Amino acid sequence: MVMTQRIAVLGATGSIGDSTLSILAAHPHDYDVYALSGYQRLDKLLALCQQFEPTRVCVPSKDVDSFAKRLCDVGLAIDVVGGAAGLIEIATDPQVDTVVAAIVGAAGLPSTLVAARAGKRILLANKEALVMAGEVMIAAVKAHNATLLPIDSEHNAIFQCLPVSIQQNNSQIHQVSHGVRRLWLTASGGPFLQQSFAQMQKAGVAQAVKHPNWSMGQKISVDSATMMNKGLELIEACHLFDLPEDKIKVVIHPQSIIHSMVEYSDGSFLAQLGSPDMKTPIAHALSYPNRIDSGSQPLDLFALNDLEFIKPDLQKFACLRLARQAMQAGTQSTIVLNAANEVAVAAFLAEQIRLTDIADINEQALTQVAVPSLDASADIEDILAIDDKARRHTHDIIAKMT
Ligand code: NAD
Ligand code: MG
Repeated sequence: MVMTQRIAVLGATGSIGDSTLSILAAHPHDYDVYALSGYQRLDKLLALCQQFEPTRVCVPSKDVDSFAKRLCDVGLAIDVVGGAAGLIEIATDPQVDTVVAAIVGAAGLPSTLVAARAGKRILLANKEALVMAGEVMIAAVKAHNATLLPIDSEHNAIFQCLPVSIQQNNSQIHQVSHGVRRLWLTASGGPFLQQSFAQMQKAGVAQAVKHPNWSMGQKISVDSATMMNKGLELIEACHLFDLPEDKIKVVIHPQSIIHSMVEYSDGSFLAQLGSPDMKTPIAHALSYPNRIDSGSQPLDLFALNDLEFIKPDLQKFACLRLARQAMQAGTQSTIVLNAANEVAVAAFLAEQIRLTDIADINEQALTQVAVPSLDASADIEDILAIDDKARRHTHDIIAKMT
């Protein structure tokens, strides 16, 4: 008999949450939606509670009572927990088999880390958790026999192209001894690939968040426009696949059909292809090592135009260069970069700075914020202290600019 997987979707009201829940809705016998969380858009969360009838739900602390009342009014008896502590309670709930980590930004780190320490199966969308705490996260996964399955499409593609022995050991097997020469992360290049730096400088929020191929949350859409997203993904890949940054190449592939590749020492390149739809990597990770229907449009090979591969321009997309620098410098620097970037992206979305200022702000933060070196023995408090210091400094940088 196949066991029903009990799932907690953290970040259920977002774009990854949407894609995940549409798959879960289509496979009610295989998956039980046990818990949901949402931070904004609580009307949407209420509708999801009505649709899926989870056992537990997490909302911001200030909304616990009012949300519990709203659930009661529609005849639902659901346990409501609140805030960061509520997320941790859900992520470690003994009833939960699988945690879908789909909260955006640093806010997703604590719940993802405790899920690892509770030995859960983690479907990781929240790349910022690995950028901030890669060594600590991977050590927790190994020590507590958790399972970490990437749903970021590039990392999911690479995972699918790696030997099964590596897949099933949480990357504890040496890649190079299995013939892995390099990984190739594909990038769409975002909405400004064909535009000049001057045009990018003038871009407003609506232009920046309008991604040519993918429909995503606001923060990751801005990250795609600056290519910081690929920088964060480079760092994510180093941790997930235990490789130094110089073994991971970035290639712009504007069609977003090849989601990434593994290059082997014999000259073989293995690639995963598909429509640009997050439902495919999410369904892969949900059902791994089996396969289920994801509901995504099958790829029509005959309708494909030429597939292009372009070298990224590191002057125009300086964030990608900064990510490599930070990865070489160590985790303390990747924490600073991530924190500065979150603050800068929020300032851009609030129309306080230009899109192209984001890279400058990130670079200033990286050079100016003095932080101690961290290793795998660091704890979450050490990480959050650096994150906090970098955020405060970045606010100062922005205040001086505006
Ligand atoms: P989104 O903005 O659409 O959704 C974010 C979710 O997190 C929402 O449910 C929101 O309520 C919740 N949230 C926001 N701030 C929070 C806080 N402080 N505390 C608790 N919850 C909070 O974002 P998204 O596009 O779904 O992305 C989610 C994560 O997945 C990001 O880390 C992103 O980089 C990654 N990712 C997204 C995509 C995509 O296609 N959208 C692809 C790959 C990876
Ligand atoms: Mg991605």
